Amino acid sequence: MSEYFGNIKTGAVTIAAGMGITLKHFFNAIHRKGDAGLDDVDYFRQVDGLCTLQYPREVIPTPKHGRYRLYNKIEDCIGCGQCVRACPISCITMETIKVAPDDMALCGKTSDGQQKKFWIPVFDIDVAKCMTCGICTTVCPTECLVHTPVSDFSEFDRSNFIYHFGNLSHLEAEAKRRKLAEIQAKAQAEKEKKAAEALKASKGGESGEPINVL
Ligand code: SF4
Ligand code: SF4
Repeated sequence: MSEYFGNIKTGAVTIAAGMGITLKHFFNAIHRKGDAGLDDVDYFRQVDGLCTLQYPREVIPTPKHGRYRLYNKIEDCIGCGQCVRACPISCITMETIKVAPDDMALCGKTSDGQQKKFWIPVFDIDVAKCMTCGICTTVCPTECLVHTPVSDFSEFDRSNFIYHFGNLSHLEAEAKRRKLAEIQAKAQAEKEKKAAEALKASKGGESGEPINVL
């Protein structure tokens, strides 16, 4: 019998303790965390206070080194394609055009002084597919591909999730391709001409009659 009443007593004490903790947090939650709300540097260290945010007026700040939406500082991109090859889900699409010798100055250098050798008419990132793993940013030799603190973005149209960072318009890219094709054709013609001349010279240099091997 005494065990029976002892169990009832233990149950009542346990419930009272639990309710005490619940009520304590209930009344603490009437007040907001910190004086400055989310701007308070100690905001996330405070146990007590209202946790619900008035979204979208209030949003949780993203951590300083968090991995969120990608951005390519295209002026520093050298078109090496390492990010494209490294991405495990192929969400980066890139097209490059070799820079013609007389366009090198126009194409310019990266901020660390590296000559850029490719135009990049297409550098698209499908952020709807991107899982922000960060592999592409890790392999980028110029550190132009970076994660931004932007974590909150939505679109009604799926196509708006493809971010374009290319540095040439469609028409400019066509003009550069034509120019490069002309240069390459000219160089090829020169090469063939030189080869033909060399062949002719070597034949002319051979003495007199052709050798009869039979
Ligand atoms: S963060 Fe990961 S998934 Fe996103 S583009 Fe880079 S490699 Fe691909
Ligand atoms: S790895 Fe970096 S430099 Fe190379 S193509 Fe990608 S973004 Fe550009």
